[in-house]
Formats: sequence, C-alpha cells, structure tokens
Amino acid sequence: MIAPDVKTAIEELRALVDGAGCIVPFTGAGISTECGIPDFRSPGGIWTKMRPIDFSDFVASQEARDESWRRRFAMEEQFGGARPGRGHRALASLYRIGKSPGVVTQNIDNLHQASGISAEHVIELHGNTTYATCLDCAARYELPWVRARYDAANGRAPSCPTCGGHIKTATVSFGQQMPEDAMRRAEEMTLSADLFVAIGSSLVVWPAAGFPLMAKRNGAQLVIINRDPTEFDDIADLVVRHDIGAVLAPFITRANA
Ligand SMILES: [Zn+2]
Repeated sequence: MIAPDVKTAIEELRALVDGAGCIVPFTGAGISTECGIPDFRSPGGIWTKMRPIDFSDFVASQEARDESWRRRFAMEEQFGGARPGRGHRALASLYRIGKSPGVVTQNIDNLHQASGISAEHVIELHGNTTYATCLDCAARYELPWVRARYDAANGRAPSCPTCGGHIKTATVSFGQQMPEDAMRRAEEMTLSADLFVAIGSSLVVWPAAGFPLMAKRNGAQLVIINRDPTEFDDIADLVVRHDIGAVLAPFITRANA
C-alpha cells in the first residue's frame, strides 16, 4: 500500500517493525538532508553544477588532487557540523534493542556511526568522507592533518609521508571500483532481513537498485520511504512518500533522543 498520510505510515510501519525479527535498513541521501548534508546527485545538487573529479584524474594529476581537496574543505562546514537526524536516531534505536544488525548506506557522512551504530555494522557502499586514506598503503589520515599540510603548501594536496602515495578521502569516487568487501557484507546483511527498509534513496544507481529486489526475492517484506516514487514501489509492502524524519521519529527510544 501507499500510505495516504504520516499517521497511517507510522501505524503500518509500527506493525511491520513489531512483527519483524531482523530489520535491515538501506539508506540514501534523503535521510541526511534534514542534517544539512546536500544530496549530490539530485536536481540542483552539487554534481549538476560542478563536474565530479573522476578517479583516474585524481590519480593522474596533482591539479585534480588539489582541486578535490579544495572542494572537500569548502564543504567542511556542512559535513563537520552535521549531527544525526531523526531517521538516523530511529535506526540506532532499532539497532540498540537488537531488532536490526546494522545498516547498509550509500551515504558518506558518518552520521550512522555518530548516531550510535558501531562502525563495523555500518556498511558503506560509497565510503566515508570524514577521514582520508593513502591509496597505496591504506594508512588512515584525519582531515585536520591533511588540512594543515594543504594550507602550509598553499593549496597543494599532500602525499603519504610513509610511502609517497596519494591521500584521498575514504570515499568511492566516480570511476573508482566498488569496494568488494562492503558489497559482499551488504548482500549478506540484506539476505538476513525479514524486513528490508529502503530510506531516502531513489534506488536508481547501481548497486543500490539490486538490494530491495534481493531482499524481496529472499522472502523479506519491503518498505520504501522516499520523497519521490521509485521503480520498486510496485513490489513494496509499504510505500511512504512523506517526510523521513517525521515518519521515523516515533521509533526513537530514549537512549537516542
Ligand atoms: Zn602510503
């Protein structure tokens, strides 16, 4: 069914959640917009105004690396200041009470971890922009460390002091291979679900599109909460096109309030 209003959406979702043994949420940009994180790919989003830097360019060109870091630091106010929203806190509550093993996310903003879900149970398909790694030796670098060296070199992206490799935010760039380990774990978690809840994702971009179908074929019930219709609405048990925060807020328990 398509929920006609927020009240009905909450009632229907409550019944599904109460009846479920293993709830697997799958999240996209829509869950973070109330936190001030822009939706990069939406109409009017950053990638419609500014061409993304392809991974091959990042690897090949110092100028591309400098520009990539300039853009990242320009967005630090949004990413650095963001706090979990109602959707994140509701999912953290389901996790805390043992109803959910974690979350599969397309987001790179670290807000599921910030809401209290253990990092090992947040499966990030597109990586994480709140820290950086060396592309060669995988050493981790924190953003203030990168920033200090970038500023000291007048806007030149630093290299890894250990191996000389390129340092990049821990995100999956356009043109960069999907992380196999995250994909495998996302499939495992999806197949463990008896209730799969896609939240704030248009479910268009591969591999996001594969998971709701995988869950449904495996016998799980499917809920889709998204502002706009998706091509999986027809096979969903419940479709909600209302505000994500408003619909999920009643599922926040006191520990995550
Ligand atoms: Zn290195």
